[in-house]
Amino acid sequence: MARYDFNAQRLFVDADLAEGARAPVSKEQSNYLLNVLRLRDGDPLLVFNGRHGEWRARLACLSRKEAALAIETLERPQDQPCDLHYVFAPLKHARLDYMVQKAIEMGAGKLVPALTHRTQNSRVNVERMRANAIEAAEQCGILNIPEVDEPRKLEKLLADWPTGRLLVFCDEDAPPGDPIARLRALAADRPIRPLAVLIGPEGGFDEGERAMLAALPFVIPVSLGPRILRADTAAVAALALVQAALGDR
Ligand code: SAH
Repeated sequence: MARYDFNAQRLFVDADLAEGARAPVSKEQSNYLLNVLRLRDGDPLLVFNGRHGEWRARLACLSRKEAALAIETLERPQDQPCDLHYVFAPLKHARLDYMVQKAIEMGAGKLVPALTHRTQNSRVNVERMRANAIEAAEQCGILNIPEVDEPRKLEKLLADWPTGRLLVFCDEDAPPGDPIARLRALAADRPIRPLAVLIGPEGGFDEGERAMLAALPFVIPVSLGPRILRADTAAVAALALVQAALGDR
């Protein structure tokens, strides 16, 4: 990957992007650019929309409160979204914000909220999760914005599970073992992609859920080590392990 310009401000927009185009930005984005970042007319930034790659652009100040973007040159072509699904019991507020952002940074291509018996936050704000996903993509040079599903009960999610996708079930009660060796051994035997990773709630999984998961042929229970990790920590650990063991894609 060419040396990436981590200092440039990146912005996600909905508009189409092409050389010479003028991309409108929302009122909130205008306020952010003009009053929070205090950018001035002609200042450079990087822009992406999840479809047309990443473009160098310059700020066009239309008024004290309204801005637009003058699209100049293609910086990076659009790449393929990651196909790793992150299935998780929604946590409470700030921890959920953190977990969503880390999952995107770790390459999750789809966020799948699963309501388990011990989930403490069943009223999940999907728009807030999408905003956190966009913020993580803007900050980390990611060109694709992951899908965010509506929350579903774990039982229903598993009953409707997509054929062919394996599910790495991070089980806090699993006997400690080497998850990388386990995943690599499985990958040597059978196609292990497409894949999903499952992390439970603050209270962990109950015995009924554990038995239900262990009985499913597409489920791979793994331990993340001898300590019980906080769910948001487990998210980063699990996704890092899977990407490292099986190749980041
Ligand atoms: N009470 C803590 C931890 C709950 S465990 C909290 O408030 O977050 C949360 C989830 O993290 C578990 O359901 C499991 O999916 C994952 N997890 C934590 N430690 C783990 C381990 N050692 N092995 C596998 N998964 C683990």
